[in-house]
Amino acid sequence: MRFSWLLSGFVGLMLLSSPVQAASLQFWRFDSSRNRLEFTTDSSVQPRAQLIFNPTRLVIDLPGIRLGRATQNQLVNTPGIQSVRVGQFDAQTTRLVIELAPGYTLNPNQIQFQGSAPTQWSVQLPTPVRAAVTPAPAPAPAPAPAPAPAPPPTSTAGSSNQVEGVQVTPDGFFIRTQGQRAEVQRIERSRDRTSIHIDLRGTTIAPSLNARELTINSKGVQNLQLTQSQNSPPVTRITLKVNRDSPDWNAIASTASGVVLLPQGGLSRIPAQGQAWPSGQQIASTGGSSTPSGQVATVQSVELSGDGQQLLIRTNGQVTAASGWDRTTTGYRIVLNNARITNQTRMPQLGAASPFLRMSISQETPNTVAILAIPASGVTIGELNQPGSQLIAIQVNRSGSPVASAPTPNEPIPVNVPPAAPAPAPTPPSTRPVPNSRVVVVVDPGHGGRDPGAVGIGGLQEKVVVMDISQQVAAILQQNGIQAVLTRTSDVEIDLEPRVRLARQVNATLFVSIHANAISMSRPDVNGLETYYYQSGLGLARSIHNSMLQSTGMRDRGVRQARFYVLRQTSMPAVLVETGFVTGREDAARLANPAFRRQMAEAIARGIIQYIQQNN
Ligand code: ZN
Repeated sequence: MRFSWLLSGFVGLMLLSSPVQAASLQFWRFDSSRNRLEFTTDSSVQPRAQLIFNPTRLVIDLPGIRLGRATQNQLVNTPGIQSVRVGQFDAQTTRLVIELAPGYTLNPNQIQFQGSAPTQWSVQLPTPVRAAVTPAPAPAPAPAPAPAPAPPPTSTAGSSNQVEGVQVTPDGFFIRTQGQRAEVQRIERSRDRTSIHIDLRGTTIAPSLNARELTINSKGVQNLQLTQSQNSPPVTRITLKVNRDSPDWNAIASTASGVVLLPQGGLSRIPAQGQAWPSGQQIASTGGSSTPSGQVATVQSVELSGDGQQLLIRTNGQVTAASGWDRTTTGYRIVLNNARITNQTRMPQLGAASPFLRMSISQETPNTVAILAIPASGVTIGELNQPGSQLIAIQVNRSGSPVASAPTPNEPIPVNVPPAAPAPAPTPPSTRPVPNSRVVVVVDPGHGGRDPGAVGIGGLQEKVVVMDISQQVAAILQQNGIQAVLTRTSDVEIDLEPRVRLARQVNATLFVSIHANAISMSRPDVNGLETYYYQSGLGLARSIHNSMLQSTGMRDRGVRQARFYVLRQTSMPAVLVETGFVTGREDAARLANPAFRRQMAEAIARGIIQYIQQNN
């Protein structure tokens, strides 16, 4: 059980005061939402680090630093990491140990030490991955023994901003960056109208980013390429290969860490859901010829290849497949025709390191099977191929490089620690931390299907109002680089329990249930906003509630505590938003208006984003 996201996000925020010691560890914390350890000493230190196995742990020694108190041990609630502890290793050395959960490892090459000053360090860990079960084929070449000589300060750190990944969002693309806010220098379309160039000033491409060309075949875009068009000052060029008649594209440096690409005209020009980009929009298909008539193939398994780079679907006969992004779920949908599932159909186990947060399979019609896969942040989906008549393969790309497993079981691997930035850093301006790509917000449109929720003036149905608002909230979050997952994506009836289960399965950071209120039809005078929370959701509730009040000017019926099921049964901060009364004279007119629902969605999303920024 997590107390709250805020608390679990920052374990071990400790001030270790030790006035007499000249050199001591002043402060450390492990931010589990970012997989980052930070520490401060009161005099210069050059840390030494090594990765040690059995059990796997990252050991960081601070020579010349005294802890001056007993060992501290903090449990960490993040997938793959078990604990962080700090202790006095010997009289002159303080030791920090990040211990991984059993079966997990880290790629030592992806551990990044950064000294913003000789007394201020951060250690960015990559996402822990499951260690390969099979023994490594050969020991890796022995790395130079520790302590590694400090490399000269190179100019690679000169770039303030790096492109780390590309994500296809329901409405466009998100170019994920690390560092300062990206700057869009220029947008140009070629004369023949088939290329759109977007230049990002002061931006390099992260060396770890392998997939620099993505096949899209959607939204009028055939593919997206990243090139380093200039080195000093660095300029990264994004090239969209487009159809001649497709609209121009805008690039907006987002408040989150990245750049949002949208078709010209912005969100308002995006075709409404279900019109131009219907669910399961076909972007690729295979196997044009159908199987012998009457023979419906069985789906035997859906698997992730060992390295997670491919999604494989095995059948016992010929099927046709189509796939595409599902606008309503922000998931990737694969539709198999001439196929059926049985209770023998195997689905993959999705671990913490899986490229997918969630995957489901369903029989849509007697001959049609649909697979919905919700990718983790930074994961893009490539082409669908049919390498054999009974096999469908879909490429899965991670923005990071594939991670090698640890070479030999027992040999420590020194981890390179560059020297700190020379000058004591001036107090940085109060830059707000940007939302993290690991943040997952579950957006829960209330009711659905046979359950219309409240029905108000003019027959206005709660389920319709909240579906529209929720989908827009999810889309806005995605555009800001925050993973959003909807509990329902169409007009279906879903119990409360699966809604809560989904939040657990995707390891949600926040849970936001969206409803509309009702009271007797004889009380049209009752109008206004209410936001409910239980336990840890108060801060989130206030942030959303205030944003809605400011944006809409509706009546304020307050932030309240309540024991609603979805609030009680969720362990992350959870709130339930009542967006107004369908039975209220003022509110019903508002809620029936699509422009108002848009405004409401923006207000809710803004409240969520502000909460994430303030608590991350
Ligand atoms: Zn409701």
